[in-house]
Amino acid sequence: MTIDPREYRATIGLFATGVTVITADDGKQVRGMTANSLTSVSLDPLLLLVCVDRKARMAPVISAATHFAVNILRTDQEAIARHFAGRLQPDLEILFTELAGAPVLHDSLAALVCRRDRILDGGDHVIVLGQVVALRRSSKGEPLLYFAGSYRQLAEPSPTLAAAD
Ligand SMILES: Cc1cc2nc3c(=O)[nH]c(=O)nc-3n(C[C@H](O)[C@H](O)[C@H](O)COP(=O)(O)OP(=O)(O)OC[C@H]3O[C@@H](n4cnc5c(N)ncnc54)[C@H](O)[C@@H]3O)c2cc1C
Repeated sequence: MTIDPREYRATIGLFATGVTVITADDGKQVRGMTANSLTSVSLDPLLLLVCVDRKARMAPVISAATHFAVNILRTDQEAIARHFAGRLQPDLEILFTELAGAPVLHDSLAALVCRRDRILDGGDHVIVLGQVVALRRSSKGEPLLYFAGSYRQLAEPSPTLAAAD
């Protein structure tokens, strides 16, 4: 059975996710890319993965960087998600800080810094495995969601979160 890629995208798009911006430093500048392919892989060791399109400018950057960060966005950061998905947002202020060797977005819901572990073949994407070496999370804020090609938010407020640095 041959599956139309558009049908595949419409179907897999029914899997609701959070939204992240992956950040890494290419040695000259910080690069960011919106991604929702984040998966937590292992607790011992602490591993997560993100899939990056081989055609994305982020692919060679994250493949070469020793560290990268996964920034989990809040509902009020939809413009940031759009920007780092290639839709430039005028007058958007983007601030980075440094955490454990990687650039992180200022004021996201959470950030996880990874040491790049392995790059695996994932068809037209590369699968980037990272070992989590630092994390930071906010005590307030709601997650930005993505469902069926649209940004969404929780219908009910989330319970109070415990912050971590
Ligand atoms: C919800 C969602 C989830 C997605 N998930 C994935 C995924 O998991 N994997 C995947 O491969 N693609 C994913 N994409 C698509 C991906 O975000 C876009 O294709 C993106 O444009 C690819 O980025 P790029 O690395 O080619 O760089 P570009 O398109 O060149 O960069 C993206 C944007 O970020 C800006 N930018 C980069 N660095 C900085 C900086 N330091 N300061 C300010 N602006 C900067 C650029 O100006 C550009 O506008 C997703 C898109 C969406 C909307």
